Amino acid sequence: MKIGVLGMQGDIEEHLAMLGKMGIGTFRVKSVKTLDMADGLIIPGGESTTMLRLLKLTGLFEELKKKIQKGFPVYGTCAGMILLSKKIVSHSDQDSLNVLDISVARNGYGRQVESFEAELSIASIGEKPFKAIFIRAPLIVRVGKGVETLATYEGVPVMVRSGNILASSFHPELSNDSRIHELFLRMVKNAPRG
Ligand code: GLN
Repeated sequence: MKIGVLGMQGDIEEHLAMLGKMGIGTFRVKSVKTLDMADGLIIPGGESTTMLRLLKLTGLFEELKKKIQKGFPVYGTCAGMILLSKKIVSHSDQDSLNVLDISVARNGYGRQVESFEAELSIASIGEKPFKAIFIRAPLIVRVGKGVETLATYEGVPVMVRSGNILASSFHPELSNDSRIHELFLRMVKNAPRG
């Protein structure tokens, strides 16, 4: 199994390091050719507008969207979640892949508190709480039908799954805990190959 990490900008190294430690073959995805070598893709946190621009420049935007719609497993963290979502309510003119039926507000947790940590209870990864790190995180303001909420913080969804798509407002690659990556790997293992 090989997992690609979208290699345009952002927390690329941290995801590669986490997957490496888990013994998973991994590489940066920067082109349609490298995308086709991956069994699943992680879209890291970073700056969603920069990643969006580079996705369009490389032709990855349309290719990735088509693949995800056909069942290709993808995990978007923070800015990655913004790129997957259907609607960006804070920046309604910002385009997105529109594959995950949620609405988000960029920087919805406020700019002044740029970053915080929270212990989350996430039943799908086990009983031990997960230390989640939020950095200028997007706020999920709506979750569509068919989208499962896997974790909440102060009553607001912060981790969701819809079929082959996993997304979180926070950065699991910055915690020394691989359980969310393991959950994504299980989704990749169980995905039908096309
Ligand atoms: N605020 C960033 C954006 O809107 C996301 C922040 C992050 O990924 N840590 O793209």
